Amino acid sequence: MKGPSVVIIGSGPSGFYAAESISKKLNSDIDILDRLPTPFGLIRGGVAPDHQTTKKISVAYTKIAKKEQINFFGNIEIGKDISIEELREIYDVVVIAIGSEIDKKLEINGSNLKGVHGSAEFVGWYNGHPDYVNLEPNLNTENVVVIGNGNVAIDIVRVLSKTSEEMLDSDIPEYALNSINKSPIKNLYMVGRRGPVEAKFTNVELREMGNLKNCLPIVNTNLPNKLDGNYSDRDQRIIEKNLETLKNFSSIEKNDKEKRINFNFFQKPIEIIGNDKVESIKFEKTKLEGNELKSTGEIAEINCGLVITAIGYKPKEIPGLKISDGVVTNKNGEIDTGFYAVGWIRRGPTGVIGTNKADGELVADLISKKFKTQTKDG
Ligand code: NAP
Repeated sequence: MKGPSVVIIGSGPSGFYAAESISKKLNSDIDILDRLPTPFGLIRGGVAPDHQTTKKISVAYTKIAKKEQINFFGNIEIGKDISIEELREIYDVVVIAIGSEIDKKLEINGSNLKGVHGSAEFVGWYNGHPDYVNLEPNLNTENVVVIGNGNVAIDIVRVLSKTSEEMLDSDIPEYALNSINKSPIKNLYMVGRRGPVEAKFTNVELREMGNLKNCLPIVNTNLPNKLDGNYSDRDQRIIEKNLETLKNFSSIEKNDKEKRINFNFFQKPIEIIGNDKVESIKFEKTKLEGNELKSTGEIAEINCGLVITAIGYKPKEIPGLKISDGVVTNKNGEIDTGFYAVGWIRRGPTGVIGTNKADGELVADLISKKFKTQTKDG
């Protein structure tokens, strides 16, 4: 028996995992729509161009797309070309998988200056995302500040510090590679408002920073010798590994590498200075009392021509979607009858690509419960 008709809005990882899980349980026709002409969302526009192993997951998505019951339609913008309401009238099931594609804004003076970009823009630029190919970030500067201590911040400093030889296996567009190669960048600062223990980057990504051909990692904070506090086993393992990696960085002999990546912790951005474009950024030293972040009044300033904020994402507003705290209002994936959410739009911008698999299974279960008689084994 034919299953309910399904449309999935968004063709990134969460959209594809939802299509895969639904197609396993239901004999449904599944249409995947995307605003861009090309599929794969974050894999194409978000994953760093030198992380080709991660990007290979698109081969698996292509296999899913080739299933008889699945079709991809690009160049369709929801809210412009067709509304959610119209889609809900046409299809039995609507699954929203639009991710969180807009930068959270750093709410300090000067954040609107030229030369300040969010990571969605900057990463989009070096990944050839059509929205950002004309960004023209100012790379004609010796100092670049990246704010945030997550994996996106690490991606950005790594891409800016690799040599063209190290980027040979990447799919970075030529315009971005040429701009980075021509740039006089000497110092990259990756600045966290909390400490190395609280940093969100994972260890594989951090370790890569110690193996760069022309860039030396420098840690500008005393590292704790032991961990206080209660952590899950997993968190404890990651933190201990990160501390060990940062300690190893501290013991690397100063060498003649041309670039430096400075890990600055406990520095909260307070103001970006400049007339028409960024000239420097001011930070206030912080300390943690329990979980509370306190300011100390001690100010530091870094001269720089480019500031990139990598402080997280929020979803695009679309008519017909009720967004609160960065996610669509939903109960375990269900927004309303026949209307579901998966991925970052459901649970916020966290986790790795594979985390979205569970979201796909979750909605496939909900849909097959609702359309019991139409399941493959129903
Ligand atoms: P993230 O992991 O949430 O990190 C955001 C960082 O921004 C945190 O250090 C946070 O500090 C800081 N921050 C937030 N607001 C701030 C403010 N107002 N001022 C200063 N700092 C601020 O986010 P992300 O790096 O965007 O990554 C998103 C997700 O994608 C994560 O799950 C990440 O692991 C994943 N990802 C994975 C990979 C990979 O596996 N290679 C690559 C890229 C992304 P606090 O902790 O103090 O809030």
